[in-house]
Amino acid sequence: MLFLVFFFGLLVGSFLNVCIYRIPRNESIVFPGSHCTVCGAPLRFFDLIPVVSYLLLGGRCRYCRCTISPRYPLVELTTAMLITLQGWRRGITASFFLYAALTAVLVAVAIIDFDHQIIPDGLVLAIAMLGLAQLIVVLLPQLGPAVLLERTAGFLLGGGLFFLISVISRGGMGGGDVKLAAVLGLWFGWKQLLLLMFLAFVSGAFVSVVLLLAHIKDRKEGVPFGPFLAAAAYLVSLFGSELVHWYLQTFFIG
Ligand SMILES: [Zn+2]
Repeated sequence: MLFLVFFFGLLVGSFLNVCIYRIPRNESIVFPGSHCTVCGAPLRFFDLIPVVSYLLLGGRCRYCRCTISPRYPLVELTTAMLITLQGWRRGITASFFLYAALTAVLVAVAIIDFDHQIIPDGLVLAIAMLGLAQLIVVLLPQLGPAVLLERTAGFLLGGGLFFLISVISRGGMGGGDVKLAAVLGLWFGWKQLLLLMFLAFVSGAFVSVVLLLAHIKDRKEGVPFGPFLAAAAYLVSLFGSELVHWYLQTFFIG
């Protein structure tokens, strides 16, 4: 079964490649069909088999022989692995499809923010819609109305805190990060959001210091924060409830 999930993940990854390229350029993600970005030749179905086409063509366009970035198959493989882990954690349930969709959006957010230093509103909106769907389909029936308060608190905490940071840092933290933190709060609720923010800030600070010391980035450039929020959100989506439970047990009860 997980093999099928992996294959499904490859197809999602292939679609994400299109989204990652086109959304920041304000192009439609549906029309026209996939084409070589160098020679414009439309790609046929046998050029679009995830990973396999890339390997068969030796990483070159069939029509103009330009090199195709290895990032395309890497995004497909990574997405497939991340979604397979969701399937392994949850089984094939309604919750799996919601988390698989969240995973896909997080991959797109991370790469687009890394490339262009923007987090497109459409992707933030997608997380908000998925969060509401999760609330209605999964959480309300299981946990009752108390969960509404918990998620609203997460939304306000994420949006409020990041808004403060963006004001204090004078734009060092962008508006996209504020919106992303708010909808992640809606998705995860305030407890798991605290864990998520902790993971994102620690990993973000660590990577920034390494990049500064290695002179890969200088102080003025800054490092986009979206990829860290996305990575932390993915980790929390897999292990969040266990980690929060362990933390509370260790420091407050035990
Ligand atoms: Zn070409």
